[in-house]
Amino acid sequence: MNTAATIAAQIGNTDWYLTGIRSSAGECDHCGRTLKHLYSVRNGQTGEDMIVGRGCCKKVTGWTLTAAQAARALRYAEAQARANATWSRFALAYPECAAKLLRDRNAELLRMRTATYTGGGPIAQHYNQIRNGSIPEGRWREAASRYMAGQIA
Ligand SMILES: [Zn+2]
Repeated sequence: MNTAATIAAQIGNTDWYLTGIRSSAGECDHCGRTLKHLYSVRNGQTGEDMIVGRGCCKKVTGWTLTAAQAARALRYAEAQARANATWSRFALAYPECAAKLLRDRNAELLRMRTATYTGGGPIAQHYNQIRNGSIPEGRWREAASRYMAGQIA
């Protein structure tokens, strides 16, 4: 499955999304100069795709995006896309457990919002462990049956 097309990190609060960082030199769609560092960006409203240099990124999107910020935003978006894909596979394999886990997690979040504790509870941790691969696919069956039996949280 190609998830690259779905990876997009919103640039600030603009309509623009960072969809990639080019490491090879190329032409900037905005100024036409050949540049070494280029961003692939997409306008979420119009669907317009552009490849722009860092300076022109600011001119096009209205937002300054440093190389470090861009790399971090893309890494985060990639991790989210991976986690979403992993969760989708889990939900397909164990729909009953996935539905219960989401319900329980939402209830847990509501409970904890009133508490001073700001971290996720044990149910959120379990949910995140499935999403981020800490519980590998080979252990999903065991994790699902243990959860359904009330042995987690
Ligand atoms: Zn340019």
